[in-house]
Amino acid sequence: LDENRVRVNNPHGIGATLFANKEVPVESGAVTELIEMLALQNTARQFAKAAPGSFDHDPEILRVAVTPDFHKARGIPVGTVLATRGYMVPQAIGNDINCGMRLHTTTLRPDDVTARIDDLETAFRHIFFEGGRDIPMTRGQRHAMFTGGLEKMLSETRRVGEGLWPLVRELGVADQLDRVERRGSLPAGRVFGLSDFMGEEGRLSRDGQIGSIGGGNHFVEIQRVEKVLDGTVAHAWGLKSGTVTVMVHTGSVGIGHLCGGHYRDVVRKLHPQQLKHPDNGIFILPEGDRHRAHAESFWDALHNAANFAYANRMFLAVMAAAGMRQVFGDHVGYDLVYDAPHNFMWKEQIDGEEAILHRKGATPARGFDAMAGTPFAYHGEPVLVPGSMGASSFVMVGQGNNESMASASHGAGRMLSRGESMRGFDDEFRKFMEQFRVVTPTDLRRADVRQRPDILNKKLEQIKQEAPFAYKGIGPVVNTLTEAGIARPVVELVPLMTIKG
Ligand code: 5GP
Ligand code: MN
Ligand code: MN
Repeated sequence: LDENRVRVNNPHGIGATLFANKEVPVESGAVTELIEMLALQNTARQFAKAAPGSFDHDPEILRVAVTPDFHKARGIPVGTVLATRGYMVPQAIGNDINCGMRLHTTTLRPDDVTARIDDLETAFRHIFFEGGRDIPMTRGQRHAMFTGGLEKMLSETRRVGEGLWPLVRELGVADQLDRVERRGSLPAGRVFGLSDFMGEEGRLSRDGQIGSIGGGNHFVEIQRVEKVLDGTVAHAWGLKSGTVTVMVHTGSVGIGHLCGGHYRDVVRKLHPQQLKHPDNGIFILPEGDRHRAHAESFWDALHNAANFAYANRMFLAVMAAAGMRQVFGDHVGYDLVYDAPHNFMWKEQIDGEEAILHRKGATPARGFDAMAGTPFAYHGEPVLVPGSMGASSFVMVGQGNNESMASASHGAGRMLSRGESMRGFDDEFRKFMEQFRVVTPTDLRRADVRQRPDILNKKLEQIKQEAPFAYKGIGPVVNTLTEAGIARPVVELVPLMTIKG
């Protein structure tokens, strides 16, 4: 109703706030989905009546907030922040558990990158796509990664002298864990159903998943700091005008889909037989005594997948550093700004209650007071808001806004569906491809590839789905976050080249 907020009227009496402004298009289909989601309230109440002992408290949706990059997705819209009491909603964090963003600063200059862009492309192509990725791990290390995340994995790693490990040590990645949300280290009692990914006892093995970007809008991007918008915070975070940054966007690839898929089946079966399946297709997992064992193993599986995703982003960042060092030498400096998930659930206090806070395509944006014990206790949490390949991205600082449950947009958000973006836009796309360097597994510069329209066109179609015109403008999204008091802009980043899986 006011400048940047819309209160969604709904039949369930639940406070849902949608953050938007005049320049941010709101998709009506996504609003419909959002309102359908609120029927969860009925699902939970009927569940409690049909199966006593399922809940420790009356199950409630406490609150819902929706970020300005809000758009339709399967089931629950991207950009939804949902706080519940008494139950988890596995579908409310998306399919890619702990999909997230990571940002590094480097000591390179943008001119260094543009002058050697072909060499960099060759180095990156080798490391990311042509067998140059070498991450040998023991079974013990993998177990440590799944059950304790980065902290436990890195402490198991001291002796491994092969592949990327020496570089992991040289870059001091283990010393920068306080710049990863929850230190990238979530406790899990066991490794859940991932025996295929564990490797053999006593041997180093190389798993195909770790260090992979994944498809679609996942990326590793080389950027330049274009504009400093908050000098104090930018300085504190090592972001200097005219330097190069590296942004990584990926998640748990196949692992998260396995865990997520499994739990979607579990919650379906837990739903009381005498009840109709919810019309909105969204099922819940109560955390009361009756289902305690399921709830606990769910958190274990969730943490297994999340720990893997933290490791995956860390390795992708190290791989980008390896490529830059191949071209520019070993003096290239590399520091972490921040790494945080945007598809996840947290146990947090909301309105004075112990709640499950679900974020699906929304990133935490806590204020300084909630960041005690981290390097962000002075200014607030870094909020990474990518635009699209070819458009600016922003680093912002969280304000701990209560209405948004300290949550911000995790991007610009799609404007066109993948199908829509493939129809038309040929001129825009041609121009974009002439001006911008996209590195993909298919080498678009190779003469033999250029003569194979079947291969070339398929790849170009994929890139087209991710072209800048398929996304909303990042400017209005950043303005809405600023005006609503959710986060403040710190620097603007402009892409120099993007590596897409
Ligand atoms: P999602 O997590 O929903 O898959 O995507 C997050 C956001 O990343 C998208 O909404 C979009 O704004 C942004 N994005 C997608 N592709 C790229 C890219 O290649 N580069 C940058 N900087 N941002 C991208
Ligand atoms: Mn994502
Ligand atoms: Mn993802």
